Amino acid sequence: MARAIITGGAGFLGSHLSDRLLAEGYDVVAVDNLITGNTDNIAHLASNPHFQFIEQDIIQPYTVDGPVDAIYHFASPASPVDYLELPLETLLVGSVGTHNTLELAKAKGARFLVASTSEVYGDPTVHPQTEEYWGNVNPNGTRAVYDEAKRYAEAVTFAYRRLYNLDAKIVRIFNTYGPRMRVKDGRVVPAFISQALRGEPLTVFGSGTQTRSFCFVSDLIDGIYKLSVSDQSGPINVGNPTERTMIQFAHEILKATGSKSEITYLPLPTADDPKQRNPDITKARTLLGWEPKVSLEEGLGSTIEYFRTKLD
Ligand code: NAD
Ligand code: UDP
Repeated sequence: MARAIITGGAGFLGSHLSDRLLAEGYDVVAVDNLITGNTDNIAHLASNPHFQFIEQDIIQPYTVDGPVDAIYHFASPASPVDYLELPLETLLVGSVGTHNTLELAKAKGARFLVASTSEVYGDPTVHPQTEEYWGNVNPNGTRAVYDEAKRYAEAVTFAYRRLYNLDAKIVRIFNTYGPRMRVKDGRVVPAFISQALRGEPLTVFGSGTQTRSFCFVSDLIDGIYKLSVSDQSGPINVGNPTERTMIQFAHEILKATGSKSEITYLPLPTADDPKQRNPDITKARTLLGWEPKVSLEEGLGSTIEYFRTKLD
């Protein structure tokens, strides 16, 4: 039986990836220090003999006993609110944490996949974003703690690939949503849904004309799994290419929840908030045979149901 480690395994994406790898027949070890994650996300796996949780800060050198075939490196604060509150933790997990995890992959002879992000493109001047674009990142702005940590994570991952012939891969994840996002993580999906369900005003930041493209979590995890078992190393974009403005999105949330909430406009919390974002997924389509399948209506349906249970 193959055995995989998931760093950040108690987080939103890491817990869904745990479910997928268990379904594919893996033994899964989730390593997490719970800084933004929660054991509630993996509570349903507690009695599964093929699943193990280890509480560990991966900024410290660490190991896991026994053989390991694959490491999925997902540990990092991911919401802008989280990484603005945790600037040094974010820089360190992306740099030292990635280095430590690559060392573990090398020691175990395991294949390695790092969760990079569309944020490596910064506030992009190329649209939609192709993997060849090098990005437009402010290296010392408030968002830089995340963007530059992820850019370093990509650099060190491919350095290990070249130096040690490690089977190391990079996925660039675009905005993803679904059940198990934290109600208060500050990202737009939990913010708008919880505001709509409580009858509070939906807080659109800035002009609301900035765009994002939202991928449902099951689609994203499928793309990541396909990359991990392919002969491709990436970097490869995985996301949903249907783009919308935040004003449009607020209206879609109002419709999906049946809420009568108003829309209010607040200043942008970060100066470098990307004005447009949309993945070019030609590579994922042609090299992995992957594309998203879940419509926004369907994905929002199950996400809203989840948030209803959390707000009750
Ligand atoms: P999340 O905050 O729900 O999960 C991150 C997990 O990493 C948490 O459980 C947290 O406790 C853990 N973690 C953080 N620092 C750690 C450390 N030093 N040691 C051990 N564990 C640590 O966020 P998420 O949305 O699930 O994101 C997971 C990964 O995917 C992140 O690397 C993020 O950058 C990347 N990503 C996510 C999105 C998205 O839309 N969700 C988009 C792009 C990239
Ligand atoms: N946003 C918003 N209202 C909120 C939270 C976010 O208008 O309550 C905007 C934010 O300014 C950004 C977009 O929604 O332009 C997506 O933000 P999120 O934090 O979800 O992720 P990002 O793509 O910025 O990492």
